[in-house]
Amino acid sequence: MKRPKITDIRATTVTVPLEAPLRHSNGAHWGRFVRTVVEVETDTGLIGLGEMGGGGESAEASFRALKSYLVGHDPFELEAMRFKITNPTASLYNNRTQLHAALEFACIDIIGKTLGVPAYDVLGGKVRETVPFASYLFFRHPNQDTGEGEIRTADQLIAQALDLKTRYGFMAHKLKSGVFPPDYELDVFRALAKAVGPDSVRYDPNAAFSVEQALRFGRGIEDLNNDYYEDPTWGLNGMRRVREGLRIPLATNTVVINFEQLAANILQPAVDVILLDTTFWGGIRSCIKAAGVCETFQLGIAVHSSGELGIQLATMLHLGAVVPNLAFNADAHYHQLTDDIIVGGKMPYVGGSIRVPDGPGLGVELDRDKLGQYAELYRSLGGYAYDRDPARPGWFPLLPNQDWADPQDTRPVRY
Ligand SMILES: [Mg+2]
Repeated sequence: MKRPKITDIRATTVTVPLEAPLRHSNGAHWGRFVRTVVEVETDTGLIGLGEMGGGGESAEASFRALKSYLVGHDPFELEAMRFKITNPTASLYNNRTQLHAALEFACIDIIGKTLGVPAYDVLGGKVRETVPFASYLFFRHPNQDTGEGEIRTADQLIAQALDLKTRYGFMAHKLKSGVFPPDYELDVFRALAKAVGPDSVRYDPNAAFSVEQALRFGRGIEDLNNDYYEDPTWGLNGMRRVREGLRIPLATNTVVINFEQLAANILQPAVDVILLDTTFWGGIRSCIKAAGVCETFQLGIAVHSSGELGIQLATMLHLGAVVPNLAFNADAHYHQLTDDIIVGGKMPYVGGSIRVPDGPGLGVELDRDKLGQYAELYRSLGGYAYDRDPARPGWFPLLPNQDWADPQDTRPVRY
């Protein structure tokens, strides 16, 4: 076997349309996701695939800038790459965690392709064939072209949850929230939980609540079949105060996203379930390491979704395949997308689960026509501000938020 050496790194920004714009506590996804597709070329002819959230010239330039670090690097040498790019003192002030994650995905893809084995075999071997997912429900603006897809009322939310359950088989349901007044959302969430019962539910207002509001809301849902209550407020100290006052496990993808914070959470518990994100933690391997720490201290884990296309979804599937303690269903925005950039189109859900790819490496291939199509769409539409909502011009949230969207507001939105 000839050991490969990296010869080039390419980054392409793409935009893939969503069914409808997704609302959240800080703004909205404006009817599309923007992602950076990364290709790492080697002298053996193999190309590894990576993906990162966001994009544009600055993201592409950031990857180009790392070529001087990595041309000539052996993709098998993952630990060396970690220290080349994200040494905790040398790169203290130039946060390259997410760039590293995309490059790590690509190198693991190359390792698997070189050896002719799936990524999960490089990462410890799979303990499950499929990864179960939760539905990921959002309040949504209508699609500006079709006028369809609005989710604002309990009836609209329940209709979507039941439709997704019928089509994909979900048995856990997550509501991204923190958009409308808490009492309104409490009624909507309780109606959802009743409609999908006995399926489990999870509520995630993206840390929009004060500690007191988080406690009040939490006490209003304690009787439901909650997987957990996700990031009701911000900060380890706020979460710790909420946890002390509730009988629901708390989960986070915001206050424990690195090993320093994980250690702090073990010394002074604030959160019960750590949502591992292959991008935010800096790669698949750091998520596996974190899962090992959580296994030791018997903290729960789940797989977090940051708006992935098929390449990153594959990383989530390989992570889910190899961590024994994955007792909660994974999250994925994936079903909100209208298309994907991988050969064969979107991966199918069967019985609420997606099969872990068995091909070499990550087990997905780039559809170059789709890559070109959605790169062109990015060039024509440009980026969008995740923390702004065109439906609420001039609005920005305080922490805790005190200015909620009006649930009666049905004005059409251009975004
Ligand atoms: Mg979250």
